[in-house]
Amino acid sequence: MKSLRRDFSSNPQAANVSSKVFVRSTKSGKVQKIVRELYLRQDIPCSSKLCSICPATAPADANGNIAPFVLSDRPAGTASFPRGHYLVPDTNALLNGMDLFEQTGAFYDVIILQTVLEELKNQSLPLYNRLVALIKTDEKRFYLFFNEFRLETHVRRNPEESINDRNDRAVRTVARWYDEHLRAATRHTKREKMVPSIVVITDDKENIRKAKEENVTALSLQNYVAGLEDSDRLLDMINESREAKETKGARGELFYPEYYSMSKMMTGVRAGTLHQGIFNVSPYNYLEGSVNVPAFGKPLLILGRDNSNRAIAGDVVVIEVLPKDQWKSPSTKIVDEEAVTKNDNPDAEDNEEVVTERERKALQEEVKKAHGKNSEGRPQPTAKVVGIIKRNWRQYVGHVDSGSTGTQVNSGRRQQNVFVLPMDKRVPKIRVRTRQGAELVGQRILVTIDAWDRDSRYPTGHFVRSLGELETKGAETEALLLEYDVQYKPFPKAVLDCLPSEGHGWKVPASKDDIGWKGRRDLRDLLICSIDPPGCQDIDDALHARPLPNGNFEVGVHIADVSHFVKPNNPMDLEASVRGTTVYLVDKRIDMLPMLLGTDLCSLKPHVERYAFSVIWEVTPNAEIVSADFTKSVIFSREAFSYEQAQKRIDDPSQKDELTQSMRTLLHLSKVLRQKRMDAGALNLASPEVRIETDNDEVGDPLTDVKTKAMLATNSLVEEFMLLANITVASKIYSAFPQTAMLRRHATPPPQNFEELTNQLAKKRNLELDVSSSKALADSLDHCVDEANPFFNTLVRILATRCMTSAEYFCAGAHAESEFRHYGLASPIYTHFTSPIRRYADLLVHRQLASAIGYEGEDGRAVIEGVSTRNKLEDICRNINYRHRNAQFAGRASIEYYVGQALKARSEKMSVGGVDSGIEEQGYVMRVFENGVVVFVPRFGIEGVVRLEDFLLPGESVGGSVEERKTLAVRRETDFDSEEYTLRVWEKGQADPNRSVTVELFQKVQVNVSSVKEEGGRGAGKRKVRILIMGSEK
Ligand SMILES: [Zn+2]
Repeated sequence: MKSLRRDFSSNPQAANVSSKVFVRSTKSGKVQKIVRELYLRQDIPCSSKLCSICPATAPADANGNIAPFVLSDRPAGTASFPRGHYLVPDTNALLNGMDLFEQTGAFYDVIILQTVLEELKNQSLPLYNRLVALIKTDEKRFYLFFNEFRLETHVRRNPEESINDRNDRAVRTVARWYDEHLRAATRHTKREKMVPSIVVITDDKENIRKAKEENVTALSLQNYVAGLEDSDRLLDMINESREAKETKGARGELFYPEYYSMSKMMTGVRAGTLHQGIFNVSPYNYLEGSVNVPAFGKPLLILGRDNSNRAIAGDVVVIEVLPKDQWKSPSTKIVDEEAVTKNDNPDAEDNEEVVTERERKALQEEVKKAHGKNSEGRPQPTAKVVGIIKRNWRQYVGHVDSGSTGTQVNSGRRQQNVFVLPMDKRVPKIRVRTRQGAELVGQRILVTIDAWDRDSRYPTGHFVRSLGELETKGAETEALLLEYDVQYKPFPKAVLDCLPSEGHGWKVPASKDDIGWKGRRDLRDLLICSIDPPGCQDIDDALHARPLPNGNFEVGVHIADVSHFVKPNNPMDLEASVRGTTVYLVDKRIDMLPMLLGTDLCSLKPHVERYAFSVIWEVTPNAEIVSADFTKSVIFSREAFSYEQAQKRIDDPSQKDELTQSMRTLLHLSKVLRQKRMDAGALNLASPEVRIETDNDEVGDPLTDVKTKAMLATNSLVEEFMLLANITVASKIYSAFPQTAMLRRHATPPPQNFEELTNQLAKKRNLELDVSSSKALADSLDHCVDEANPFFNTLVRILATRCMTSAEYFCAGAHAESEFRHYGLASPIYTHFTSPIRRYADLLVHRQLASAIGYEGEDGRAVIEGVSTRNKLEDICRNINYRHRNAQFAGRASIEYYVGQALKARSEKMSVGGVDSGIEEQGYVMRVFENGVVVFVPRFGIEGVVRLEDFLLPGESVGGSVEERKTLAVRRETDFDSEEYTLRVWEKGQADPNRSVTVELFQKVQVNVSSVKEEGGRGAGKRKVRILIMGSEK
């Protein structure tokens, strides 16, 4: 782009000046004349491989190369365009049909006008980004044509002409020019008959009419697609909401309140009468939303469909607080959308109001509870959504509700409405119009939401593509990656081109005179080793320790020098900044950087020289820091240990070599460091984690691969020194860059976050949780023990962790220094420096540290650029915080999926006569609702909802299908005590208390875990992990 604008002088004939003159009067009344010059050129190529004119005039880059031509000389066509065609879409066509343009079966050889690209950017940034990605891929042959700079296609706006009309005219002008140009360029040659049709795609009727007048071929997206082979499938992918709006308005039935105008909302927010925040939805109750706003200590509850007023989880909304007499306590009930709205008809809105009778009932019971026997319950402020500032809609993975395809399935390929149930339970079902209702049942599919109008109970969207059959590994893995927005496509060529040309043959230069050694310290003599999980290939860090003559120790942490290989702003750097992090799934790793770097050239493998970035301290035997030093270095790691190997070696008294001694020194120092951290109030947090060992895939029970993570002393050895390195580096970069240092903070959670847990512990165990400081919290968590229930402490730590906010990357200038604090680590300042292979933040921090110590590298320039401006860094922080969170979710979901599959495999092997008896395990009650409980099963690291029908009453047997058990629910009676957190369940009419089951919070319960398949009806074919409660231990 740059070169096109700059180098018009290369061909004097090509340059042409068109000046635009504007006249405006200034405040003082003077008239000012503004002249803007536009250099119009004739050397901007058409980029068609058929053309014989453009290759001679196209501008070359500094090396004399001309960009390869994009558009095929034999483009595909349709019955109406037997010679093939080039497509010229206008902005609306892209707005309505981006999914189509991304298809692999159609939409090749597309000319994108610069005018259209810019207009799209103004209208929708996500679509703009997708289009840019398409232009970048070689495969689809999308050509970005700089029509505004080319003499013949530049269009000046006429007086009285709207911008829209002018842009439409620009599209038609380009189409006409291409047609004439290609004819001229092939005249009297063999290619004369190969000139393709130029087809404008537009959904604007007026534009189509004018095109006809001007002899330009133009079609609506719909009409064009109808002529394609696979039209049924493709037609589903057009966003129909625009058209639909016009036809629907007439029905006049409006379910939802109108949104306030933007100015009314902004005035209200400024005045403090309205509040702005992000809309969250409870994972247990789809009718309960909440919004955190600074003005209230507790989240504001948004109850019911009418109050949430078409907001979807993640949207930025404006809310109005309801009067105090309408304040309520949060939900004590599990409410599933699937169950409540089961019989809704996707084709017609019934005349019920927006809140159906069933939904009203589900909520009414809440109110009863809040005012009932436990009326001193803790009511929370409630609010309603009055407008949306920003939609956070994305593509959603889901499956078609088989119940919604109706009976018309076999009536040919008519369009029908179906409901798609998103995988994310917090997102409402989506009404999708499709011609393939029947085929889509049983498939994992990708859909988008196009609109949610006032007259529609559900949002409407369209089908994008199928990922494959439900529950197949390929479909579910892709579903997971899409759902968590993981960038999993292979690295494009432009990225791979940034790798060192020597490939795996790259070596640290032998001669110290080589420029690669510039500014590096030679640390090859040090006895450095790495300690990692078994099988680790991307080794980010290595360590050493040795005694100093003065009785102190020298300790070094050496980190892979990734920033040597990844230069700022090249395609590899940009790709890594978008990916943000490596994502670890059970049997798949989606790398942030190409393998060549991650597992070889950067990886601090043993017995080979590597570039590193080292932090070296002098510490006293009591682990007091005397000094810290930072340097780029060359190291030679002596060994890559697993945690277990390192532990064994340290523990073996016969090992007296220097390497083992240095590990013992490290271990000793790490213990002192750890104690100091704990004394300062660092928290020992817990999250439910299991590890899957897939390497031992002998025949046997697949469940044996599921292991809980064991902590060895060597784990914490590495951890302590990484924390120390991160803290030391954080201070260094902050002092060098007080505005732009990239840091990481963990905000102190507000005490009211712990209110519920504090109350629960006091009620159930007579324990006190002191949340006045992290130190107080750490101490009181240590006291949360139950002799009879060793897991209790971990359970409380898991629950306490959930009361906290998550840690985040930020730019030093964005917060006051007092807010830099990392609450969980009890450190006043923190950053990430130690994992640059798999985290982008660390890579940036490396650049900042290099700059802070005056390291100039091979070309001095690169380092400075990496430090960047605050604005740009804040964008990066936003993205990597988002990617980081999603990577965690994806990892967890992957384990859950694996456990489900392992249970399924086991049941197929163990079941007798098709009946799976499941596996018995211990579970712990994490939450109690009035119609079920949430149980955590540590063995598998999973938590699940146990509904009333899944309580096994005395005398009942395990078997029974999902459907059979569901019918039990109506025969169950319950007694729920929200103050005591207990739930008693029995069979209707059964008076004998011995025939009931009572469970309470924190209790250890015997559970039966199995993988079951939903049979008929809605979830058809969908598997889930079922947890049955078999009884309880006090
Ligand atoms: Zn040409």
